[in-house]
Amino acid sequence: MLILISDAFDESLPKVLSKYGEITEDKNRLSEAEIVLVRSKTKATKEYIDKAKSLKMIIRGGVGLDNIDVEYAEKKGIKVHNTADASTTAVAELAFALMIALPNHLVEAHNSLKQGKWLKAELERTELMGKTLGILGMGRIGTALAIRARAFRMRILAWKPLVYFSDFATIVNDLEEILGGSDYVSMHMPLVESTRGIINKKSLAWMKKGAYLINTGRGECVIEEDVAEALRSGRLGGYATDVWYSDPPVKSPLIDAPNTLLAPHIGASTQENMLRIGEIIEKIIQEYSGR
Ligand code: NAD
Repeated sequence: MLILISDAFDESLPKVLSKYGEITEDKNRLSEAEIVLVRSKTKATKEYIDKAKSLKMIIRGGVGLDNIDVEYAEKKGIKVHNTADASTTAVAELAFALMIALPNHLVEAHNSLKQGKWLKAELERTELMGKTLGILGMGRIGTALAIRARAFRMRILAWKPLVYFSDFATIVNDLEEILGGSDYVSMHMPLVESTRGIINKKSLAWMKKGAYLINTGRGECVIEEDVAEALRSGRLGGYATDVWYSDPPVKSPLIDAPNTLLAPHIGASTQENMLRIGEIIEKIIQEYSGR
């Protein structure tokens, strides 16, 4: 059995998996691979799947399956797995880190000191305590963020649909209502047709003036140009994002927009998560191979 490791995983993974078959990182051997391991970089489109003549299984190290044509793969008898639970802590901690760093101007404070400036009077901070956090997509990551936000004495609202968990939050059925009632909004829903571009000119106008938006979900859930304009006009107090239209972003209007905090899709990239992803992948392959 040939296992193609197509994206970046923990460096221990090839050795761990070598007991189940031959391991390759050579993408030219796609047509021989029985199992392909991807993260978000590889796009398993129809054309990609058609080239993979021996493929029986695609394993996505991570949560979102929007880089895989799952329907087409399954139609061809190819099983698709993800490692859904592994990344929850890693992404929730990054969302929380961004939510702290953005209104505290930590990056600007650091950079200005390095440039010999002393912005003590200019860098006025705001506190999280007593503020309202609106969570769009109260699933695994949204809930993990809510638990952390509660410790900071924030009030939590969660927007439907399909809230998995509600003990930590007041459920709000209407997007306009949650956006209008939140000082911070954090995005954790999957990219599907109904969430594509859901943060746009119209919905940004529903937000409190000066509210902060944090996106560790998917870049395509916002219209970047509209977010950049809301930052320039002051409607948004700040935008922190880990996710983009493409990795890396090409000509994104957010790069030059004010009051941003930008990360290169590192939500899942903790050492601990890479090990957890590897363990789950091994279990899936072990079960598949019957060893
Ligand atoms: P999850 O399935 O546990 O939670 C998703 C939440 O979104 C659920 O509450 C669900 O009810 C809600 N939802 C589903 N469809 C919706 C819709 N059409 N409209 C509104 N809400 C909807 O998933 P999770 O593990 O919490 O991950 C959430 C997302 O985070 C993933 O889909 C992925 O896009 C993103 N993610 C990003 C990174 C990163 O590196 N930044 C890493 C992992 C996951």
